[in-house]
Amino acid sequence: MTENTILIEKGWIITVDDAKTVHREGYVFISGDSIEAVGAGAPPDDLRQRAGTTIDATRMTVMPGMINAHNHLFQSFLRGLCIDKPLLEWVAGVIWPLAPHFKGEEAYWAAMIGLIENLYSGSTATIDNQYIHPDHAIDDGIYRAARDTGMRLNLAYGWGDIKYFPPLHQPTEEVIDESTRLYETYHGKENGRLRFENGAVIPWGCTEEGMLRVFELARKWGVGSHLHIAETKEEVDINIRDRGTRHIEWLDKLGILGPDVQLVHSVWVDDHELELMAQSKSVVVHCPLSNMTMGTAPARVTEMHRMGIDVALASDGSASNNAQDMFEEMRGALMLARTTSLDAMALMPADVLWMACRGGAKAFGQPELLGALAPGRKADVVLVDMWRPESVPLHDPVPALVFQRGGRMVDTVIVDGRILVRDKQLTFIDEQEVLREAQKACASLFKRAGLTYEPLPLKM
Ligand SMILES: [Zn+2]
Repeated sequence: MTENTILIEKGWIITVDDAKTVHREGYVFISGDSIEAVGAGAPPDDLRQRAGTTIDATRMTVMPGMINAHNHLFQSFLRGLCIDKPLLEWVAGVIWPLAPHFKGEEAYWAAMIGLIENLYSGSTATIDNQYIHPDHAIDDGIYRAARDTGMRLNLAYGWGDIKYFPPLHQPTEEVIDESTRLYETYHGKENGRLRFENGAVIPWGCTEEGMLRVFELARKWGVGSHLHIAETKEEVDINIRDRGTRHIEWLDKLGILGPDVQLVHSVWVDDHELELMAQSKSVVVHCPLSNMTMGTAPARVTEMHRMGIDVALASDGSASNNAQDMFEEMRGALMLARTTSLDAMALMPADVLWMACRGGAKAFGQPELLGALAPGRKADVVLVDMWRPESVPLHDPVPALVFQRGGRMVDTVIVDGRILVRDKQLTFIDEQEVLREAQKACASLFKRAGLTYEPLPLKM
């Protein structure tokens, strides 16, 4: 069998390794699905001779693929809708009218455009908190899109059993049955690119009994758990009214906190809850642009960072963000932290890059395998074209990536040793076909749901 090898040379290498090493000019050597070597200067002759494919990264930065750590891929069909409501009214106004009508095929095309948008902006993995299950084929459709695009996907099976939208409620038995089916069918498949975890949607939508049973199952399987936490003050008030505790306190009481738990948003948390998050080594997933879009208040990321709490970054679903671009999230996280703490050094570009890569790897459940260019890590590599008006003259690539809209400049994306984007184009997916099919699928969904949709003229 021929060895699948890729040599990337002459690039500015930003490793995001433990020492945050940067090579002014260097190389990355990929063998199969993993990184074999990273170094400064020219590659050794033996690597050059073994290289099946050589990529000249002159005028480019080479960085790890980022992990978009909280998503709702079905929402790619809901961009730009209902953008004038507070969160709970927004959920009721845009998500609930459509969610019960989704079919598996529509979820597939929504996920395809969402995943492609992520790839084009330098993400190589995403955690999809998939909480609509009127048709069980929706989950299969999302996994199929991940398989077809080549991206890494951790599907966090979202569920609620009280107070949430009744058509989306699921009894615990059904959650366990479906979770078991998906875990057995997909977890670890596609060379480990597909994963499964628990995704209890929101504290006020889940009973204690359901939480304990599903979390216990996740821990038995050795997979993580992922849930929205304290996104708005109103949601915290609901918990205090009904349970007498704030969100994080409630999870602590249930014994659920831990390094395998991803606390998405965590905006309205008090000092005691920050302590609980730090002690338990839980991971926070910060969605700055979504929070700003919904006007939900800034998360206390500067304090989290200083307390050593692991923070990952994410776009959240396209309905509450309208875009999927982790470079924007890095910039947004940095600017929001500086603004809210009135401190121009609250977060530095290297901090938010770390969150996007290493924080994301931890959230994804693979802290040793993803998020860095280092021998033994998975070959998820992004090349960013710096020969552009946004970035020339280039003084320092890390702030350039964060401040200068790197998402527009992504040239090449490699996932698991496969080149998925080259010269800013998908290598093996017909993008035009995806756009056409996504538009058709969205039109039929909206028609079935009785909602207005006026598609752009289709070029067939
Ligand atoms: Zn969300």
